[in-house]
Amino acid sequence: MESVKIPVVQRSARHWYTDGSVIVQAGETLYNIHRSMMIQKSAVFADMFALPMENLNTTDIQGIHEENPIVLHNVVTSIMLDDLLDWIYKIDWHPMAKPSYPERFLVNILMLSTMWDIPSGRQFAIACLDILNLHPARQIELSRMFGIDEWVSTAFEDLIKLDLTTLSEDQERMIGFKTYIILAKAKEFVEHERKLIASIPPPMAFVQSFECEHHDDCRTAWKELWWKKVARSLLHPRAPMVLETGVTYVEQLEFEGMSACCKADMVEVIKQRNAFGIVEKVVEEAGTAVLAYNKSLC
Ligand SMILES: [Zn+2]
Repeated sequence: MESVKIPVVQRSARHWYTDGSVIVQAGETLYNIHRSMMIQKSAVFADMFALPMENLNTTDIQGIHEENPIVLHNVVTSIMLDDLLDWIYKIDWHPMAKPSYPERFLVNILMLSTMWDIPSGRQFAIACLDILNLHPARQIELSRMFGIDEWVSTAFEDLIKLDLTTLSEDQERMIGFKTYIILAKAKEFVEHERKLIASIPPPMAFVQSFECEHHDDCRTAWKELWWKKVARSLLHPRAPMVLETGVTYVEQLEFEGMSACCKADMVEVIKQRNAFGIVEKVVEEAGTAVLAYNKSLC
């Protein structure tokens, strides 16, 4: 006959305080912690650890005796609770400090702080995760799981610059099917715009300055400059121009055959058209779509 393993509940080696006032159980571990300290952190704890109004025998009240602890939701493992309690009891953190904690530790705190509505726990975990420079795929995953809206835009901005073929299977899974589709479409749209920008030299849409005496030469020179330099750089197969650097790229070109005043006017036209700003616009729209999707999951 197969023997049945009976779980042995044990006191936590890390968080069993002899002067504790509430006993909770996570997995097979018991914790004796301080009711007032917990209540201070979250309104959910205030409800969870509230003492009953009616006069009951202490043995009937959950959380007073080891035999009758407050049993936490079964998704909460002892490792997770250890991490949360380590933060509550042992870490004196200031937002300006930039300490480095392991990702697992911070994600556990983030998860429980989100579940139990502990604002200071979320603030701590998010600020510390922020300085770990996580891969944007992981940032997208965490933002979806824990509603970190402020990460979506920057993570998406990094993802759109990545070559999708460099992503590992794990990173693809982190991004998720729906967000991956939004990403693929956004990238395709930007590539289409890149070709469009390259194929049509911006017209010299400004009034000819009286200082320019050979404006027809300027027109010819501008078209040539666009095709030979800008379009070529935009369509380079291995190292295409980063679109956001387009204006700077044009500014530093030597406008051979064009008068200085027309060069200055042309740079101004390009800034006003803001065609190189397409990535920013696409990221903004895609970010809104990802946020809407994340919210639909709640
Ligand atoms: Zn001119």
